[in-house]
Amino acid sequence: MNELQNMDIKYLHGVGPKRAELLAKQLDIRSYYDLLYYFPFRYIDRSTIHRICDLDGELPYIQLRGKFVVFTPQGQGAKRRINALFSDGTGTIECVWFNRVKQIQDAYHTGVEYVIFGKPTLFKGVYSIAHPEVDVYNPQKMTAGVRGMYNLTETLRNRAFSQRTMQQLIDNLLSANVVQRLADPLPEKLMLRHRLMPLHEALVNIHQPASIDALQRAQFRLKYDELFMLQLNILKYASTRNAKFKGLVFNKVGNYFNRFYSECLPFPLTGAQKRVIKEIRKDMGSGRQMNRLLQGDVGSGKTLVALMCMLLALDNDYQAAIMAPTEILATQHFETISSMVEPLGIKCALLTGSTRKKLRETIHEQLLSGELQIIVGTHALLEDVVQFYNLGLVIIDEQHRFGVAQRARLWTKNSTPPHVLVMTATPIPRTLAMTVYGDLDVSVIDELPPGRKPVETVLRTDQSREAMYRFVGSQLAQGRQAYFVYPLIQENEKLDLHDLEQGYQTICETFPSYKVCFVHGKMKPAEKDWQMQLFVSNQAQIMVATTVIEVGVNVPNASIMVIENAERFGLSQLHQLRGRVGRGASQSFCILMSKHQLAKETKHRLMVMTETNDGFVVAEEDMKLRGPGDMEGTQQSGIAFDLHIANLAKDGQIVQLARDDAREIIDADPSLALPEHLMLNERLHDLFDRKIDWSFIS
Ligand code: ADP
Ligand code: MG
Repeated sequence: MNELQNMDIKYLHGVGPKRAELLAKQLDIRSYYDLLYYFPFRYIDRSTIHRICDLDGELPYIQLRGKFVVFTPQGQGAKRRINALFSDGTGTIECVWFNRVKQIQDAYHTGVEYVIFGKPTLFKGVYSIAHPEVDVYNPQKMTAGVRGMYNLTETLRNRAFSQRTMQQLIDNLLSANVVQRLADPLPEKLMLRHRLMPLHEALVNIHQPASIDALQRAQFRLKYDELFMLQLNILKYASTRNAKFKGLVFNKVGNYFNRFYSECLPFPLTGAQKRVIKEIRKDMGSGRQMNRLLQGDVGSGKTLVALMCMLLALDNDYQAAIMAPTEILATQHFETISSMVEPLGIKCALLTGSTRKKLRETIHEQLLSGELQIIVGTHALLEDVVQFYNLGLVIIDEQHRFGVAQRARLWTKNSTPPHVLVMTATPIPRTLAMTVYGDLDVSVIDELPPGRKPVETVLRTDQSREAMYRFVGSQLAQGRQAYFVYPLIQENEKLDLHDLEQGYQTICETFPSYKVCFVHGKMKPAEKDWQMQLFVSNQAQIMVATTVIEVGVNVPNASIMVIENAERFGLSQLHQLRGRVGRGASQSFCILMSKHQLAKETKHRLMVMTETNDGFVVAEEDMKLRGPGDMEGTQQSGIAFDLHIANLAKDGQIVQLARDDAREIIDADPSLALPEHLMLNERLHDLFDRKIDWSFIS
């Protein structure tokens, strides 16, 4: 590999310094290796010959077989071009070349049978192909069926660098006998397990497939390679970190946990909650520091899981902390948790930015002395003055609201770092989680507590606005509360704020007998909290807001969520918003308002919301539509999502295989020092020498 990376592309037959410069600039191809790994973006079946009389509508690249009838040079100087009429006996089509007029005239002749290849465009009822590829018809050659098409740029095409040129270069590369010499870095064990195509064969077939079947095997092999190397790199990093960070061993299940379970639990745990608690318990007893992501849809009961894990920490004589992104959320957690553990005589406290100085000082003291066992708080927990006696477990709620750096800071509060559990209600597709949170283990609560009524979601246009208001009115009349949410996007801030204020006015006028509160992200935190509190306490029945309400607030009496300009939100975000309702006993509704005219794809996207309440399904769809790079939580990860050939959204199964295999190898040989792994290790260096700083991720 290394050898190929060091071979300058200009030395390849057919390239030379000029083309080398062009390739470097246009396609970032600088070495033999770069060209070899510049895979076709799609394939064309070259065994099929179309008939001109059958051509119809919008057409892809096709092949025709026939003869040129006449060549007609046209225009002068820079405008010179040459037209040709091509006939296959069933009809005629026009071909046109805008440069190299002389060469074309010399190279092609009437009366010879050719196969031409290109994309016909329809203009004024006549099909024409610009710059077709032309080959003398040769029945033997036609059997080579599938051919790759490469992404080229406009500049390349203008410099007479065509698909054909690219294919020729690939041909030269493959026959230069360098690929055949490539050693395969994969251990034999894995090759056999998945019946993988050998590397050099895969590289040949990805460019020049011998058959569809060979192409598929080549694709599988190369996707696997890419994902496997990615996972190997992540896990190798994680294993060095784990070796560095020994974990506290929680081996007791004691009084707190057991008494809570038998005396205080207000309802039976769901199967998923039990499973997840088991996973966490095992992890915290393993002697390694736990770094776990707990995913669970809104309302799946993560708080209870968090609480029971904290009790395990207490049973092992450690303190536990839970951190939430907002003051309101922290307060809600504190109220839930303190009321549940009170019967057990556990000491817990709330620490936020607005905790009074006197109380704050007491809390600081009691955390340091160990008197306080559970602390609930906001960012205030991260301040340097906050010191613990022996912090054993940190739980971070709604992870995406916290910077990654902040997460790291809590670790430094002990000599042995505490276990870390990150909870998120933004479901992330598994394949993405394995990559973005590569070295975090993932637990999933995939079951809601019994008796939940799924939120009914509908899509409405402005035409039914009056009806929507009437419906909301009828719910308010039954004593319910409602949210109206507006998008607020930075680029568009002024306009959006205007919309929001306008909306607020309209709603106040439409529902004069109810109190309306108003929240947006530009408000001072104190003002925002006060407005939220109005809604929480039901002094206000309607909340008009931007997405600031996305995270956390729990108002079970709120049963309606109206989302304005829903088409402007991502699916995952809509799902988060919808999670604010459906928390109480009554049937809840989510009304997505949109413009009358929606693009087909937008409509399809919004319809997903009306069809499912499952956050994981929503997240998968979201990733399919937007691609992994745009998903929430991936941007700051620093991971290159421009994978060569694999696709996190589509190749989930291969991600899983690659993950399992990488795990197995790293478990057996953490530093890849065994002889059978030496080549793997080398390949890893070659691939990742850009040094992604994985420590940044968690
Ligand atoms: P989230 O996962 O969104 O943080 P919460 O922990 O706030 O969810 O739980 C949502 C609601 O479900 C709470 O009112 C909680 O008391 C309730 N709940 C949690 N677990 C169960 C269970 N096993 N059975 C019934 N209700 C439960
Ligand atoms: Mg929660």
